[in-house]
Amino acid sequence: SLDSTDSVISTGSTGNTGGSSRPFRVVLLGARGVGKTAIASIFAGAADSMDSDECELYGDEVCEQTITVDGEKATVTLVDNWDSEDEGGSSQDQCIQTGDAYLLVYSITDRSSFLQASELRISLRQHRPAHHTPIILVGNKCDLVRRREVSVNGEIRGTEGRACAAVFDCKFIETSAAMQHNVWPAFHGIVQQLRLRRDTKEN
Ligand code: GDP
Repeated sequence: SLDSTDSVISTGSTGNTGGSSRPFRVVLLGARGVGKTAIASIFAGAADSMDSDECELYGDEVCEQTITVDGEKATVTLVDNWDSEDEGGSSQDQCIQTGDAYLLVYSITDRSSFLQASELRISLRQHRPAHHTPIILVGNKCDLVRRREVSVNGEIRGTEGRACAAVFDCKFIETSAAMQHNVWPAFHGIVQQLRLRRDTKEN
C-alpha cells in the first residue's frame, strides 16, 4: 500500500513513520552468542536524546526508545527474542514477518554465524518478497581481531562481509558491542533507511 501523503498516516503493518504514530519495529536476528543481547543493552542503556533517559521495557526482550537521528526524533522498538523462539517454529516465522527493519548480526569470529546470517537473509526475502525491508548486516565483535574468521572486503573469497551485503542488497557495518563501537551508527543507519523508504513511499 502507498501513503497518499507525507504525513503520519499509517497504512497497514508497514506504513508507519517512527515519529508520532507507532514506533519503528527493529528486530535483531542472528545465531546464538553473536552479541545480540549486548547490542540491545547498549540501545537500552543510553538514550541519546534529552527527554528520553529511560528505556521502556516490556519484558527483557523488547525495548522502546526515542532517539534523535539527523535532528529528528524517532521511536524505535527493538526486539531481541530470536534465541528464545523455537528454531524454525512459527514464532520465529512471526518474528521474521513483523519487523519494519532488521539487524542481521553475525560474529566476525564465527564463520558459521556468518553463514547463518546468509540463510536468514534468504528467509527474509522469502517471507517478504514484496517489501523493501531495510536490513543491515552487522559483523559484531570486531574488537577480537586475532580471532577473525570473516574478512571485511573478502579480497580472497569475494563473498565476505561487505560483498555479501552487496549481493544481499543491504547495508553493512562492523561493530563491537564490547567496545561500544559503531553500535549507535547501526541504529541510526536503520532509522535513516526506514525514513528513506517512507519518503520514497516504497511500501
Ligand atoms: P546473543 O546470544 O546473540 O544475545 O549474544 P550475547 O549478547 O549474549 O553475547 C554472547 C557473548 O559474546 C557474551 O559473552 C558477550 O559478552 C560477548 N560479546 C558480545 N558482543 C561482543 C563484542 O563486541 N566483543 C566481544 N569481545 N565480546 C562480545
